[in-house]
Amino acid sequence: MRLEINGWSSKITFSATHVIPTHAKCGRLHGHDYAINAIVEGEMGPDGVIMDFISVKEFLRGIAAELDHRVLIPAKDPGVRLSEHYVEYKVGDNELKLPRSDCILLDIGVTSAETLAGFVLMRMLEKVKFPTNVSRIEIGVDEGRGQGAWTGADL
Ligand SMILES: [Zn+2]
Repeated sequence: MRLEINGWSSKITFSATHVIPTHAKCGRLHGHDYAINAIVEGEMGPDGVIMDFISVKEFLRGIAAELDHRVLIPAKDPGVRLSEHYVEYKVGDNELKLPRSDCILLDIGVTSAETLAGFVLMRMLEKVKFPTNVSRIEIGVDEGRGQGAWTGADL
C-alpha cells in the first residue's frame, strides 16, 4: 500500500534560482517553481494507516522553506568558492558573485531536479523516524508542473 503526497496540492513548493554550467540554455541563471512530492510505501498498521503523513508534509515544507527564494549553490562544484559575504561561482567563462545571504549551499555537485530529489531523500532518511511497517520512501522534485525527477530508498 502507498501514501502519495502531491507537493503542488499540498503546497510543498518553493521558488528558486539555479544554473547548470554544462547546459547551453540552463547555463544562464534562471528560476523555477519547484514542488516536492513523496510516496511512502508500507503495510497498513492495526490503526488503519501506514503512518501519519502530516509529519512527512511538515518535514518537507520545512525543506521547501529553506530553499525558497534562494540561489541554489552546489557546494561540491569545484567552481564554487566561499568568502565571508559572497559566493563566487565559476560558470563557463563567467564568474558569478552572489551575496551569501541570498544563497543556500547544498552538499551536491549540480542543482538538477535529480540531485535535489536525492538531497531531499537523504535529509529525510537522516531526520525522520519512520515506523517499522514503512518499507520504502520515494521523493520527486518537480521543476515546474509536469516534469520532475524521482529517487527512492528501501528502509
Ligand atoms: Zn533550470
